[in-house]
Amino acid sequence: MSDTIHDTVILGSGCAGLTAAIYTARANLNPLVLEGHEPGGQLSITTLVENFPGWPDGIQGPELIENMRKQASRFGAEFRLGHLATADLSKHRFALNLGNETVHARTLIIASGASARWLGLPSEQALIGHGVSSCATCDGFFFSGKEIAVVGGGDSAMEEALFLTRFASKVTLIHRREHFRASRIMLDRAIAHPKIAFVTNAVILEVLGVEHKEVIGIRLLDTTTGMESELSLSGLFLGIGHIPNAAMFAGQLDLDEDGYIKTHNYVFTRVPGVYACGDVQDRRYRQAITAAGTGCMAALEVEKYLEEHGR
Ligand code: NAP
Repeated sequence: MSDTIHDTVILGSGCAGLTAAIYTARANLNPLVLEGHEPGGQLSITTLVENFPGWPDGIQGPELIENMRKQASRFGAEFRLGHLATADLSKHRFALNLGNETVHARTLIIASGASARWLGLPSEQALIGHGVSSCATCDGFFFSGKEIAVVGGGDSAMEEALFLTRFASKVTLIHRREHFRASRIMLDRAIAHPKIAFVTNAVILEVLGVEHKEVIGIRLLDTTTGMESELSLSGLFLGIGHIPNAAMFAGQLDLDEDGYIKTHNYVFTRVPGVYACGDVQDRRYRQAITAAGTGCMAALEVEKYLEEHGR
């Protein structure tokens, strides 16, 4: 156990965490950034980001993240691999247990983001890494010339389906309703793409191929007719949203019914000195730019808090 007490520890190294790191590092607070399960967050596994202001031709997600990380390092942010196992926020010297060590902090910025949601079918879980994936940019390459499906009706599903057309011979987009949550522009691009087919009002009952240890298809239920059918496929990509990484704070911070950290005045949690920013507390906007914005707010509040407490 280290005796060092960090002025501020930032949990997560996505857009929110890195923005908080840039601001707190520039304020000479030497932030410690715990990179978490998915270093770089969701942007590090996305492709072209077309809506981050300042990049008129777009920028690749991993490049944007790398730039932010360099910017934070330049001002003295320290990065450490590792993620939080448990936290004790009951004393003003917060104790953060990383499994093999405990880190202490005067303030904490939670920017732990959100992770991919799964359907929760046993067959899906058994075939993760054997044809079932939640990351098109990571795994799309393995499906060159093959028929695959993407499940979901939001922007993530459209983005994945469009990206996967680079490799797959056909992409079937499966959505449980008739109407889509996706933005009009993304939906129109997917509809216009000759390699993308749509199956709506359909839920996946089973991913086929467990006994072969590779996906060979899916069994579907048409929710309007009650009829079951099978579709032959080599891969299934999940694009059904995300779950906030906040379960480790249950009981210590207020979480909403879906597990997002509840904040007031944008980034304040119910514990003084603990702030939450980005997708772990934002169920409404969930954009890179809003994550960066709340990361900045959390950093400014940390500065104020430390100043008020004599640091
Ligand atoms: P989302 O908007 O919450 O959409 C999730 C989709 O998955 C919904 O269509 C939902 O169906 C479906 N779904 C959820 N659970 C399911 C289940 N168990 N079985 C089957 N289907 C299920 O999530 P998202 O697409 O990840 O987008 C999140 C945010 O990020 C949005 O604000 C989006 O605009 C943004 N985003 C933007 C871009 C971009 O601009 N390039 C790319 C990706 C994401 P229902 O509609 O029936 O609920």
